[in-house]
Amino acid sequence: MGDFEYQLITWLPIVFFGIVIALLIWTIRFMPRAKPAPVVKGSQVEVAWDDVAGLDEAKQELQEVVDFFRNRKRFERVGARVPRGILLHGPPGTGKTLLAKAVASASGANFYSASASSFVEMFAGLGAARIRKLFEEARKHEPAIVFIDELDAVGAARSGGGFHREHDQTLNQLLVELDGFSARDEVIVMAASNRLQDLDSALLRPGRFDRQVNVAPPDVAGREQILGVHTRGKPLAADVDLERVARQTSGLTGADIANLCNEAAIFAARSGAQYIRQSDFEAAMERIVAGLQQRRVVSEKEKRILAYHEAGHAVMSHLVGELFPAQKATIVSRGQALGYTLNMPTEDRYLHTREEFVDLMMVFLSGRAAEQVVFGRITNGAANDLERVTAIARSMVFEFGMSEIAPSRTMRADNYALSEETKRMRDSEQARLTDGAYDEAQRLLVKHRAVLDRVAEALLEKETLDRAELEALLVDTKPESRSSETIGTVRALPMRD
Ligand code: ADP
Ligand code: MG
Ligand code: ZN
Repeated sequence: MGDFEYQLITWLPIVFFGIVIALLIWTIRFMPRAKPAPVVKGSQVEVAWDDVAGLDEAKQELQEVVDFFRNRKRFERVGARVPRGILLHGPPGTGKTLLAKAVASASGANFYSASASSFVEMFAGLGAARIRKLFEEARKHEPAIVFIDELDAVGAARSGGGFHREHDQTLNQLLVELDGFSARDEVIVMAASNRLQDLDSALLRPGRFDRQVNVAPPDVAGREQILGVHTRGKPLAADVDLERVARQTSGLTGADIANLCNEAAIFAARSGAQYIRQSDFEAAMERIVAGLQQRRVVSEKEKRILAYHEAGHAVMSHLVGELFPAQKATIVSRGQALGYTLNMPTEDRYLHTREEFVDLMMVFLSGRAAEQVVFGRITNGAANDLERVTAIARSMVFEFGMSEIAPSRTMRADNYALSEETKRMRDSEQARLTDGAYDEAQRLLVKHRAVLDRVAEALLEKETLDRAELEALLVDTKPESRSSETIGTVRALPMRD
């Protein structure tokens, strides 16, 4: 007994001090640094290229950046300059941050990221100082990618608002940094924004964010791939049909789908199941969609209307003779637009004939015309189209002298010399043009109803059709040669072009 007491008395203080010292070392090593580091270092990001699903076009464009970091010599040898600033734009949750991280991972570059909103909420001059520091760090640790999230926070065009001076200082500092790179710097700046149209144009000038990459919400194939990524490693029951889930989640972004997969797993866990079943996905969808009331989740019925509307545009751009061929048609909603058809002129032209303007009006009006022809009723979905058509007809009559009543003079709105009578004629002439184009668009869609149906079905099936897919659907349909010649007039006005 005496022995044991003796040992305790000698050893206890030693053990005690040992523990204290160990604790001290541990606190010093793991204590959070007094000032949180403003940047995240590259070694910390690990996002596999394959974890970014469905964004094939964006990934293809960014592959160039990866190649640059990986194989710099090859670019230098031929004097190629790789873009310095790349702007990723698209709605929230589509994977912009994820992409930037994946680029950094794949390039082996250090990743420095900061949200622009954190630059503006500070005292005068601090935002600018933080930007300077961010770039300084990145330059010290080349190769590096600087990622600025929510660029709109500093980059919104200078107008109104309270923190004017501070905002300008911060923006100016960013411009200084972007301009301050030398050809040898191995730093690339990436930024994300969901309001491209609001950005200060100074940011988009050559040498700054002059490369813009669109990060679009996923179509049905993209959503299936994203579901694949986010169910990887999760136990799925045999009845799970991811393609079906993808079909039912039109309008959801990548972030929503990641969330959906997690919710499904939670439903499964709560019921004590070992596998995630299709019913868990259905329950999760219900919950997610209910939580997104504000956002656009397009119902099956609306999808049909959208599909016919966009098919109308695509078919008409073919029928009027391929001057403005449809590059892409989609019913994947995005921002304000529920769907869209992208038309691109086949060549750069500065002169257009009267007939071509009418063709263009018909292309714009054919979304609504398709709704009318197929469903017998129209929706507000054509508001934007009508805006464009009104502007075209107005220019034709007011500025280009392309009307019956006055082929040799302008009739601008600000011309006070115009009589009331002339103004009335001018306005009815404009209406005659647009109404004529609308009637003709409907007539052509009735005539080509079969191909309209075919394109709409394909859109419902795939949600997005690219140029080649559209061409394949339209190849057997012959364009209507100059169907627009007589619209709004008895004689076509010839014009050299
Ligand atoms: P953004 O920056 O465009 O708002 P994020 O990159 O922050 O979107 O996306 C948030 C999360 O949503 C990601 O971390 C990822 O889990 C998921 N996600 C979004 N888009 C995709 C995608 N294309 N592929 C896989 N996951 C995605
Ligand atoms: Mg983000
Ligand atoms: Zn339209």
